[in-house]
Amino acid sequence: MSSVFYRSSLPSPVAVRAEGPYLWDAAGKRYLDGSSGALVANIGQGRAEVAEAMAQAARTLAFVHGSQFSSPVLEEYSARLMMFLDLPGYRFWAVSGGSEATESAIKLARQYHHERGEGGRYRVITRRPSYHGASLGSLAASGMGARRELYTPLMNEDAWPKLGRPDPHADGATDAEALRALIESLGPETVAAFMAEPVVGASDAALAPAAGYYERVQELCREYGVLFIADEVMSGMGRCGTPLAVRQWGVTPDIVVLGKGLAAGYAPLAGIAASAEVYRTVMEGSGAFKHGFTYAGHPVSVAAGAAVLGVLEREGLVDRSREVGTRLLEGLSELKTRHPQILEVRGRGLMLGVVLGDPEKGMSFQTPGLATRIGKKAFGLGLIVYPGSGADDGVRGDHLLLGPPLSLTDLQADEFLGLLDASLAD
Ligand code: PLP
Repeated sequence: MSSVFYRSSLPSPVAVRAEGPYLWDAAGKRYLDGSSGALVANIGQGRAEVAEAMAQAARTLAFVHGSQFSSPVLEEYSARLMMFLDLPGYRFWAVSGGSEATESAIKLARQYHHERGEGGRYRVITRRPSYHGASLGSLAASGMGARRELYTPLMNEDAWPKLGRPDPHADGATDAEALRALIESLGPETVAAFMAEPVVGASDAALAPAAGYYERVQELCREYGVLFIADEVMSGMGRCGTPLAVRQWGVTPDIVVLGKGLAAGYAPLAGIAASAEVYRTVMEGSGAFKHGFTYAGHPVSVAAGAAVLGVLEREGLVDRSREVGTRLLEGLSELKTRHPQILEVRGRGLMLGVVLGDPEKGMSFQTPGLATRIGKKAFGLGLIVYPGSGADDGVRGDHLLLGPPLSLTDLQADEFLGLLDASLAD
């Protein structure tokens, strides 16, 4: 009998090895990873150079505590990463996972206001739907009913006001004015930050607002002295076809949150990039960010991140994400003509969404679970997708989030579409 605490009542199959976008289980069955785990394994698996960089780091300097030392790998990587993301003057704060990173961003935003004598700014506005993490703070910040319901009331709900879902078909700037109304109603002097996923992931399958939305969000944040935090844990690092998704709206947030694709699953690595102004305010105030995790900036994780960045750059995988994303989106549009339960297909780069529902009503079926059923069928056929039913506005629910590795070949993309086609049948 297994001693593993599985995530569900059915024991998970045991994966034994992986290569590129494929995994094999203990029975020898092969799976095409159409969701890179949970949009993590962005460069595919089995890259010897990443493993070697990690081994080298472990041999040279296995651990330092962030309160005592920095390390050469962290110094070098932070500079390269800020250059790759085109964030000059920004400072990188490394942690081990996306939830730690969003919590870090929230705490940094609150400390920033304290340093400026505005400690009354304690609220962080987020959106519904959204997903910012599983820890209690980041879950409280999230607008995703399905993941929150067993834990409510979450911490001080008053601190996490929620803005509604952006409408991709509206005028973006007008749509974003809802943020002004919310800040005004709460009292700007109580608002520390606005945090959003530039392209929504787990809770709403690659939903992106219309042109003009984030431009206005940035203006409003500046007008009210509110920090703009972009949670790019899923959408960043080339996933959406640009190093940062939010740049597709031409804006630069005060704090950017990164995770997942940063070390592409080779090691736990996430972090935040903070603007020069935020960094300076904290350092010239208390003199330290009053926050820290034991494993933050772990040299082996950082070395993995540096090697992954090398692969991304050398193989032009950000551009590749756009190319293969276009191919897949065209294929998904074709599937939509043959599978009426597909209501909408959308996405940017290789962050793609398939919205499912009742074709007659144009909304989710009364009994949710279609996405889970399709996900299970796909798994049986050897295709991994990321089913969800997060959007809790009563209209949209079931969806598949798709996000294969950015290194996917055209042939593999066609195999992906064929398997998805078969998964959607009957
Ligand atoms: N933020 C976003 C946008 C995410 O998609 C996720 C995870 O899916 C997180 C934060 C939390 O990251 P982690 O699961 O690494 O803690």
